[in-house]
Amino acid sequence: MSEEKRKSLRKDGIRIEALTVPPLSNNVYIVYEDGSDSALIVDVAEGSKQILKRCRELSVRPALIVNTHGHSDHTIEDQALRELTGAKIAIHELDAYRLATEDEASFELGMEKVPIEADIQLVSGQEIPLGRSSKFTVMHTPGHTEGSICLYQKEAGILFSGDTLFARGYGRVDGSGSDPDAIVLSLKQLLELPPQTEVFPGHGEFTKIENEQWLKEITEA
Ligand SMILES: [Zn+2]
Ligand SMILES: [Zn+2]
Repeated sequence: MSEEKRKSLRKDGIRIEALTVPPLSNNVYIVYEDGSDSALIVDVAEGSKQILKRCRELSVRPALIVNTHGHSDHTIEDQALRELTGAKIAIHELDAYRLATEDEASFELGMEKVPIEADIQLVSGQEIPLGRSSKFTVMHTPGHTEGSICLYQKEAGILFSGDTLFARGYGRVDGSGSDPDAIVLSLKQLLELPPQTEVFPGHGEFTKIENEQWLKEITEA
C-alpha cells in the first residue's frame, strides 16, 4: 500500500495532523497545542516513520502515544516509535494485555508481533494534559474491544473515537473481547456529547456527532 494522505487542522489553538497509513488505512493523529513542542500521538499503526518525519517538520516531539484500543493494526509500531522518541505508551487498563498478545488483525495480516508493555494504563475519566492549557479526557467506550476508549476535548469539541465510532458506522463487535450490548451503551454516551463535536475516527472520514443520526435509532432500540 502506498497511500499517503495527510490533513492539517486547527481548532481553538489545538492542532491536529491526520495521517492515513497502512496496514488498514488507519488514521493516526499528531495533536499539539499552538506554541508547544510536545505532541500527543493517537494510535501509531504502521506509521512510526511518517509520524516521526511529520513531527520533525512541525518541530514537535512525540511525548505520549495513546492507543484508542489494543488491536494490532493500531498498535503494531508503538514500540518502534517509543524507541525512536522516548514517548510513553498509554492504553486503557482492560486492553493493556493486547499489546503482548496476537489478535485477529495480527493473524490476518501476518504481522510479526513483539510483545510490549504499556507505560501507563488508563482509566475512565482520566485527564491527559496537552501543552500548557489543554487536556483530553479518557472516555471508556467498550464494545469493539473491552478497553476501547475515546479521547474527548470539551472546549474545542474534539473527539478521537478509534473504532468505536466511524462516519456512518462503528467497529465490528464479533471479535474476541467484543460486546454488542456494550457498544450500544458506548454510542449512547457519544450521542450525549454536543452535536457539533468533531469526530476523528480510527478509519475513514471525519464526521460530527450531529451528522450521525443513525446513533439515535440504534441507541433507542
Ligand atoms: Zn479495532
Ligand atoms: Zn481498526
